[in-house]
Amino acid sequence: MEFFVDCLGASREVGRSAFMLRTDKNILLDYGIKIFDESNLPKFPLETSLKPDMMLLSHAHLDHSGCIPALYRDNKITWYSTPPTKDICEILWLDSMKIMGDGLPYRLGHFNKALKHWDPLLYKKPIQTGQTRIELFDAGHISGASMIDIEYKGKTFFYTGDFKCDETMMHKGAKFIDGVDTLMIESTYAQKDHPPRKEVEQRLMEEIYDTLESGGNVLLPSFALGRTQELIALIRSYDENVPVYVDGMGKEISRIYMQYPSYIKDPEKFKRAIRSVNLVAGIPDKKAATRQPSVIITSSGMMNGGPVLNYLFNLNSNSKIILTGYCVEGTNGNTLLNQGFITQDGEQLQVDLPIEYLDLSAHAGRTDLIKFIKKAGPEKVLLVHGDHPEEFAKELKEQHGFDALAPLPGERVILDEEK
Ligand SMILES: [Zn+2]
Ligand SMILES: [Zn+2]
Repeated sequence: MEFFVDCLGASREVGRSAFMLRTDKNILLDYGIKIFDESNLPKFPLETSLKPDMMLLSHAHLDHSGCIPALYRDNKITWYSTPPTKDICEILWLDSMKIMGDGLPYRLGHFNKALKHWDPLLYKKPIQTGQTRIELFDAGHISGASMIDIEYKGKTFFYTGDFKCDETMMHKGAKFIDGVDTLMIESTYAQKDHPPRKEVEQRLMEEIYDTLESGGNVLLPSFALGRTQELIALIRSYDENVPVYVDGMGKEISRIYMQYPSYIKDPEKFKRAIRSVNLVAGIPDKKAATRQPSVIITSSGMMNGGPVLNYLFNLNSNSKIILTGYCVEGTNGNTLLNQGFITQDGEQLQVDLPIEYLDLSAHAGRTDLIKFIKKAGPEKVLLVHGDHPEEFAKELKEQHGFDALAPLPGERVILDEEK
């Protein structure tokens, strides 16, 4: 029986992560969407002629999970993930249907069916199906995020999903692993190291103090999932009193974070932090947020929708905008940072407030990627989830002697050529 993996997405791109691994089962690893493409239309995983037997989800971010309901147009397979991942997916998928409607390849019926076909899979509690053994490990990326270890006929295939080794406010960080035969690893930051976390945290707090002292608001456009929680925890771990308002879907997702305390680093501290911030419930709260110097954490992270756009035009001139996450080219976050404008209803709107970018990434930086690969000691390295992983593949080959490749979309990589 052949052992191979088909790359259905996230191949030489970030977005629509989807891979079909063939052992004695057909196993889908992630099934995401790419929300913003050059064409501004969503992109979905490539078609495959193999019928999946099961589906394993690394984490809830839509670029990994966003197309799962579409599997239930003509499948009854079980999909597996950690419990917080499933609960968060439910919120994100409902929101996608609200925003994208007909632009999605699934409808409410498929969404409901998908939720019925889920089974929990916990960290370090392996399951066996046929001759394939599956185990999840904490990826240190967001709540419930997993690295997936698959063993088949004595060979290990290890898929990192999105991961971070360094400790953050919310997570302890992924542990290094060894004894891997094939390593499929994200390479988002293959060409960049993140600045020291503590320095970035302190810089953020300085910016907050300076802006609030001069009577302004600090607007933090943030992904509802992951970044919102990290920022709440961060600000509260430095300062218990500075006024913080949280708006958007991040409120709902924070509730799920609290429902699964074992998936975060310091649940008691996070609970206290959440209780101490203002969760914006309506117009009066929104007004209160900008009426006084305060920090406003709100979605969407790339500023292409969500409450952030309303806040943006209600800030006084002493205010400041700080982006802490990656903004894809063409999004408002990106044009604001680089050209000082956003686009709303087809109109370019100038923003005359200072804008800064602080790197609080939830992904491993370049040095950790190399370290992770070296510790895993794989025979083969597959670089996915990166814009130009072919350069990194070349470097790993020439400087470190690895059989590394950056598969193309649609490429089949054979993992066991003996038989
Ligand atoms: Zn992610
Ligand atoms: Zn991702």
